Amino acid sequence: MIYFIGAGPGNPELLTLKGKRLIDQADVIIYAGSLVNPEVLKDAKKDAKILNSATMDLDEVIAEMELAESKGLMLARVHTGDPSIYGAIREQFDRLDKLGIEYEYIPGVSSFLGVASALKAEYTLPNVTQTVILTRMAGRTPVPERESIAKLATHKATMIIFLSVGMIADLAEELMQGYDPETPVAVVYKATWEDQKIVRAKLSTVAEEVKKAGITKTALIVVSNTLGDDYELSKLYDKHFTHEFREAKA
Ligand code: SAH
Repeated sequence: MIYFIGAGPGNPELLTLKGKRLIDQADVIIYAGSLVNPEVLKDAKKDAKILNSATMDLDEVIAEMELAESKGLMLARVHTGDPSIYGAIREQFDRLDKLGIEYEYIPGVSSFLGVASALKAEYTLPNVTQTVILTRMAGRTPVPERESIAKLATHKATMIIFLSVGMIADLAEELMQGYDPETPVAVVYKATWEDQKIVRAKLSTVAEEVKKAGITKTALIVVSNTLGDDYELSKLYDKHFTHEFREAKA
């Protein structure tokens, strides 16, 4: 059996109980070495075969899965954050389907949620925005033109940008085609790791601040008016508001 497991953003305690149990029981572990904290594997079986997928191509990963399956071994494929976000899991699933190999997918805490916790942020505030956009800048992997940063920015939603901190100056320029230059931005490097760094700025100053902080990779950029102080209180906890579980108070 093959288990695809979201390893969370970094802190080894931010792993689901199920993910942890399966990693600890696995005979073979293939982990995304560039971002998965090795601490996540610290209770793996002593004789587990541990492979770093950073140096492997898709064929090699699938070959290891086939080999494990043929020997009746349990294999854990460990991805950073949650594998549904830029995890390249679909191509693995499709190959396994063709081979008739069964697999299960155990979700993880995505880095955009680790970042919310680091910032103590709520991405959706009443009367500010009720929408969160997860995206990336076009780099070596293209992004469809209709999803360009400038176009998405016109919504003024909370935007969380992956895989792009190396292009922060261009990114900020594009964002300012939609957002006001005063819009608050936070850049979080290695959220939930011991060497986490947070840079807070405005769109107009963020590129310079990120450069000063020396952040060039493994960071998320959050652009959102929810990072400011202007919002309305929620209806959910408003004492004059009735909902399914609570009557309004006089
Ligand atoms: N599946 C992962 C994302 C993989 S893409 C997830 O759900 O988080 C890799 C990108 O994610 C990095 O370039 C960086 O932008 C972001 N990232 C991953 N871990 C991070 C962390 N701990 N802190 C900040 N950004 C992180």
